[in-house]
Amino acid sequence: MNEFDIVDEYFSDIGSASGVELGIGDDAAVLAVPEDVALVVSADMLVESVHFPHDMAAVDIGWRALASNLSDTAAMGARPRWFTLTISMPELDPSWLSDFSSGLRACAERYSVGLVGGDITRGPLTLSITVLAVQSSDALTRSGARAGDGVFVSGTLGGAAAALANHPTVPNTWIDRFARPQPRIELGEALIGVASAAIDVSDGLLADLGHICRASNCGARVLLEDVPVADGLKDCFPERWADWALTGGDDYELCFTVPSVRIPKIEALAQRVGLSLSRIGTIEAAEGVRLDPGAADWRPTAQVGYRHF
Ligand code: ADP
Ligand code: MG
Repeated sequence: MNEFDIVDEYFSDIGSASGVELGIGDDAAVLAVPEDVALVVSADMLVESVHFPHDMAAVDIGWRALASNLSDTAAMGARPRWFTLTISMPELDPSWLSDFSSGLRACAERYSVGLVGGDITRGPLTLSITVLAVQSSDALTRSGARAGDGVFVSGTLGGAAAALANHPTVPNTWIDRFARPQPRIELGEALIGVASAAIDVSDGLLADLGHICRASNCGARVLLEDVPVADGLKDCFPERWADWALTGGDDYELCFTVPSVRIPKIEALAQRVGLSLSRIGTIEAAEGVRLDPGAADWRPTAQVGYRHF
């Protein structure tokens, strides 16, 4: 089996999307981008033992690789349509490829995106996905937060970090939060015209809110007791839940800011997208992210936000 056979066997028919004038098989894909929309493009790489444990099930790696990439365009309020996939892998393992492609397919079908091209090489296990999304209005960026805006987060936090920290010894309730993240695409779209800034929580709440604050030249105050924490986490890990909820990444929820006049819209919006949306704090003029109660009650045991270098 060579690279061409691998593509035929495992990657030729993943997901679906309209507008593919020419898909996999030629030197490049040709996509019909509708008039009056902007193309929103995001690339992300996943490296074994850096982004996922080496013994993680291939089916979950497939789902997670795509879902974590879709989360970036969701945070812009864009609708993902197509993606490319490059794979570096140490050996040809048909059962790994079959499982990986089935997880990838499930995610592509769930979120209606189509695989339109890629590349395969031999090397350490590394996956890179580029998502192409469309947007007919102004993008939701990190830079629009202003003092007085409310800070919100969707869903719950800390579950993915707890799953990863306990992997693989304890089968736990939160494993799907790490293995099967749900990109908040509908929420991102619904936040256009409502939120002033948004980001997906991939590096940890405080780090990612810090990115909004830096891009917006402001700061934020977060109330620890208002941060929505994954079910059961506080009871199981009274010492560590705050760390995971505040600095653990990988939950792929959206953190966003809303000007006070538009805050009354949030409740109906939450119902419409079927997600809890919790207010966790307020944007302030002074730079930096402050936690209430402060460091006396909580000190990070790990560095805030993942750093590769
Ligand atoms: P070349 O490198 O000689 O241009 P490739 O083998 O990279 O050709 O690609 C042949 C076709 O298969 C292209 O259309 C490419 O987009 C597609 N392809 C290669 N690898 C993947 C992959 N992992 N997933 C999807 N499509 C792929
Ligand atoms: Mg190529």
